[in-house]
Amino acid sequence: MMTRQQFTRAYQVSRRWVTVGVLALTILWFCLFLAVGSKVKTWFSASDAAELSWIAIALGLFVTGVFCIAKFVYRRHGLVCPSCGNWIASQSMMLKTGRCPKCKEEVFHDA
Ligand SMILES: [Zn+2]
Repeated sequence: MMTRQQFTRAYQVSRRWVTVGVLALTILWFCLFLAVGSKVKTWFSASDAAELSWIAIALGLFVTGVFCIAKFVYRRHGLVCPSCGNWIASQSMMLKTGRCPKCKEEVFHDA
């Protein structure tokens, strides 16, 4: 089990990696958006609904991607609750209390 110091360190490192990952994904997403967008331009002039649904799909993909990156990074650094798997926006609470805010399982030993 980690100490508070290790957890803090892992949290900082993870946030940096998530930021890098999100930036990379944004660039990738933008390229994809433009590439696919220019190919299906004919639909766009045909109907606004097609354009809107494409934007919705693209945004959905982006959000899913961010979610996957964050989960991967947090899991890799041991910032996911070992008991219930809770990880979304819980790290600051875990840092404060040393426990998972959801199931109250101890996440690190306060050394
Ligand atoms: Zn938990």
